[in-house]
Amino acid sequence: MFFPMFIILGVEMKISDLKIYNLSVPLIKEFKTSLRTVSSAEDTIVKIETDTGFFGLGEAPPTAEITGDINQGIQGLIINKIKPLLIGEDPENIDKLHYLIENSAVNNSSAKAAVDIALYDLFSKIHKAPLYKLLGGYQNMLTTDMTISVNSSAEMREDALQAVKAGYKNLKLKVGKGVEEDIERVKVVREAIGDQINIKIDANQGWQPKEAIYAIKEMEAEKLNIEFVEQPTAALDFEGLKFVRDNVLTPIMADESMFSPADCLRLLEMRACDLINIKLMKSGGIYNALKINAIAEAHGVEVMVGSMLEAKVSVTAAAHLAAAKKNITRCDLDAPSLLAEDPVTGGMKIDGPEIKLPSNPGLGITGVKNLKEIK
Ligand SMILES: [Mg+2]
Repeated sequence: MFFPMFIILGVEMKISDLKIYNLSVPLIKEFKTSLRTVSSAEDTIVKIETDTGFFGLGEAPPTAEITGDINQGIQGLIINKIKPLLIGEDPENIDKLHYLIENSAVNNSSAKAAVDIALYDLFSKIHKAPLYKLLGGYQNMLTTDMTISVNSSAEMREDALQAVKAGYKNLKLKVGKGVEEDIERVKVVREAIGDQINIKIDANQGWQPKEAIYAIKEMEAEKLNIEFVEQPTAALDFEGLKFVRDNVLTPIMADESMFSPADCLRLLEMRACDLINIKLMKSGGIYNALKINAIAEAHGVEVMVGSMLEAKVSVTAAAHLAAAKKNITRCDLDAPSLLAEDPVTGGMKIDGPEIKLPSNPGLGITGVKNLKEIK
């Protein structure tokens, strides 16, 4: 009865420590986009402890090609800048804590996300509710797509057929490596899997604006039935993205162009895209992701929640966010299915494309194996 007494008496809980760990998980198969090739997930795990025994877990992967963050940077910022600001603070003061985190440094969205996730895990454990319920509780089940790495059209065809056999009805094809080859890749996959499977494509900035318009129009003419095209052009070229959006019928989604709520507002005021992809590693965590979703919803724009190549702590946090909100209509959270092993106990339950949110408090994660503490 010691812990509840603390709360009943109104004694303020305090953050007492913040620890970081390395987590290494091999992939089943190399993950390839137009930006990078990865063969294992090498993530930072954060544990925030309190003087009452409650703790929260967070995670960040290094994605230098997208966020600019590497593990040493993530860990250095958390230990040297964020930790001293949080020690002694009340973990329930979400707004104040995020003000402290946001002002600890510019950029560094991955480090901020890892801490943000741990704080939300902690907050929802204190309130004895699964995180998705505290965030809105719209639903407790999600369906994710499966990502097909960019390879030869023959290899992508085989990978796509295998995903369909495993029950996936939504495929995300990575392209952006040569316009003509890309058109051929999508055509070959569409012919192999038939019309009943949903295809979206992600060029990861691999096309020039005019190339993108050419490629997308060809795919439209061939009736390849693409649900949407993700980030066809360079991240910082908002005008280029708008030029593409204005010249094709297929919806355009912003991914690498959109990190912050301010980015989202600018893109939507420009009408540069039709859809938004939130990733916690870009937004700096759930706190800003909620603002981005609200901005998108106010513009009548639906949101997808995606992830980098991450293990299941941070992807579970993304799933809680996705389940919480009605305006989040799409889910690209297949990363844990690309890992050769799962070091995480609890968290989201994955059965092929189906994701079920846990009903225990917080993220619902009870342990993470193979952690190496960084001193
Ligand atoms: Mg993307």
